Amino acid sequence: MYTVGVLALQGAFIEHRQMLDRLGVDSFEIRELKDIHRPMDGIIIPGGESTVIGRLLKTIGMFEPLKELIDNGLPVYGTCAGMILLAQSIDNDSRTHLATFPVSVKRNAYGRQLGSFYTDDNFAGKVIPMTYIRAPYISEVLSDDVEILAVTDGNITAARYNNQLITAFHPELDDDTSVHEYFLNMIHEHNLAISSQTYEKCV
Ligand code: GLN
Repeated sequence: MYTVGVLALQGAFIEHRQMLDRLGVDSFEIRELKDIHRPMDGIIIPGGESTVIGRLLKTIGMFEPLKELIDNGLPVYGTCAGMILLAQSIDNDSRTHLATFPVSVKRNAYGRQLGSFYTDDNFAGKVIPMTYIRAPYISEVLSDDVEILAVTDGNITAARYNNQLITAFHPELDDDTSVHEYFLNMIHEHNLAISSQTYEKCV
């Protein structure tokens, strides 16, 4: 049984916990500094307002420990604002945040009409519902190791880089569980890799 921490400083974190619940995965909210030190198999950075979440991370001293966990291989999934927080560079913003994912993103860039829309499109080989809310997209991939998982209207909207997953859309707001299952699979791979390293050390 896995336990996933959901960053709960601001934004749509409850919906991620509900999704994990449906998949039989334990979760808890990361609100205070001490929460980031609880044992967890993965972490979700939800959608919301990236500038607000980025500022709060610094204010409560969680920025460095979070970055270190990701750098050390903890599986992380960033949705929308979460994707902006993980991006190595932001085209239309002088700030960057955790900067662990080698892509450039463009904020508030992706939308038809009012900036929010719904579509069905391909994610990792499967058509799923996608809800975009004042979403960013990936404007540039900065490493050959980035795997592109979704392209909608010619813009990259989901990608994986080693232990990190990002989507510009919000799967937690729809019924389909594919993206969360994909993330759980990353956790599974990560745990297998750790146990085989431990095994090699022991034999
Ligand atoms: N527009 C928000 C930002 O720039 C992201 C929106 C979202 O997470 N739905 O941070």
